[in-house]
Amino acid sequence: IIKISVASFEKKIKFVDNINQPFMENYNVDQKIQEFMARIEAKNPNEPEFLQAVKEVAVTVIPFISTRKEYTGKKLLERMAEPERTIIFRVPWVDDKGEIQVNRGFRIQMNSAIGPYKGGIRFHPTVNLSVLKFLAFEQTFKNSLTTLPMGGGKGGADFDPQGKSDNEIMRFCQAFMTEMCKHIGPETDVPAGDIGVGAREIGYLFGQYKKIRNEFTGVLTGKGLAYGGSLIRPEATGYGVVYFAEQMLKTIGQDFKGKTVCVSGFGNVAWGVVKKATELGGKVVTISGPDGYIYDKDGISGEKIDYLLELRASGNNRAEDYAKKFPSAEFHAGKRPWEVKCDVAIPAATQNELHLEDAKNLVANGVICVTEAANMPSSLDAINHFLGNKVLFSPGKASNAGGVATSGLEMTQNSIRLNWSSEEVDARLKEIMIGIHKACRDYGKEEDGYVNYVKGANIAGFVKVAEAMLAQGVV
Ligand code: GLU
Repeated sequence: IIKISVASFEKKIKFVDNINQPFMENYNVDQKIQEFMARIEAKNPNEPEFLQAVKEVAVTVIPFISTRKEYTGKKLLERMAEPERTIIFRVPWVDDKGEIQVNRGFRIQMNSAIGPYKGGIRFHPTVNLSVLKFLAFEQTFKNSLTTLPMGGGKGGADFDPQGKSDNEIMRFCQAFMTEMCKHIGPETDVPAGDIGVGAREIGYLFGQYKKIRNEFTGVLTGKGLAYGGSLIRPEATGYGVVYFAEQMLKTIGQDFKGKTVCVSGFGNVAWGVVKKATELGGKVVTISGPDGYIYDKDGISGEKIDYLLELRASGNNRAEDYAKKFPSAEFHAGKRPWEVKCDVAIPAATQNELHLEDAKNLVANGVICVTEAANMPSSLDAINHFLGNKVLFSPGKASNAGGVATSGLEMTQNSIRLNWSSEEVDARLKEIMIGIHKACRDYGKEEDGYVNYVKGANIAGFVKVAEAMLAQGVV
């Protein structure tokens, strides 16, 4: 038995050595990608979302690594695909009926090469290890793109906030933080919101952290203005997406004026997108929920934008309510908005909400720009369809980075104990988005002038983290 295992161990070592051979001209890139993915798949079975996120990066970054001597043979991407630390914990709490409930909590501390772990917390029944690992992996690249000193992390629980009372939400947040507070801190790991975690939840989480640790620090972002939050943080993700889309359109001499825009989702991100796209002269005609999508031919503007906040706060998760309130709107049950003809499409709901069929519909209907607002909303084949048809397409890790960038600005304000005006924060946000767009262009521009933003974002995000990891040694 010992002989066999030693032999297979040796085989494994050999296999690994081959993959990391030094830079050379006949480096077979496709084979490298396949071998890399085979190892990642073997290590992370049953994690489809995580593998999808890693593959998207691998196919663009491995060819780049092959052209850079300093990056080959260092297993940089392999190290980035292994969380520095994964914390999984029990979250027991008592509901309003007095019944004990048990949820599973997570914090993935993915990469701290360029700063403390940073990334949101998601409360949703679909939360599992695969989903949070994909989000934490994406976050590492996204945070790097912002140019701010933030590593990558993500957390959450399989808790469903829908239908829960305010007291239940508070007790759950307290139970979650009772464990998480042992692993985070303003110089270690700074969580924020994500799906199912907004200002209310951040407040309860912050209160519990402060009580247990007896520290008032910027340990969370997305805080209320009264206790260290930043102006513009609620709008930041959506505004940033639209600033990014504006830059994409500019590359072909266009802007938002008169453009028909399809948006999915109706949460915080969708709200910010609709607000800014409308302000810039676009006409947003759709939003969506888990129940279907709304088509409003008159455009979602004015009081309808404010209604989105009400819709979200209702906790009903029903886009249909919008059509009941505004007669100009039609509700399409069980469908996604990608069948509607538009110039600009902005998926702002959740992962894998835009598939190949949807991409085909959008392209056939003449879409010119697809700017992701959610994290990984498009499947890989949908992305390839956009790229193949030379549609302007940007991945969420680039275009939605304005949210976490503004979290970074909140951290700065907390550290210097000052609050900036909304104009100042907005100006910095815009500058950061323009900078990310430029980085994507620099690394993603192809010979015919088309910008492959997927390639650009992945390589630009990779380079900063890789440089820091190389400088810090094998740790
Ligand atoms: N959850 C957001 C994201 O996906 C924000 C994270 C943060 O502000 O830390 O980037």
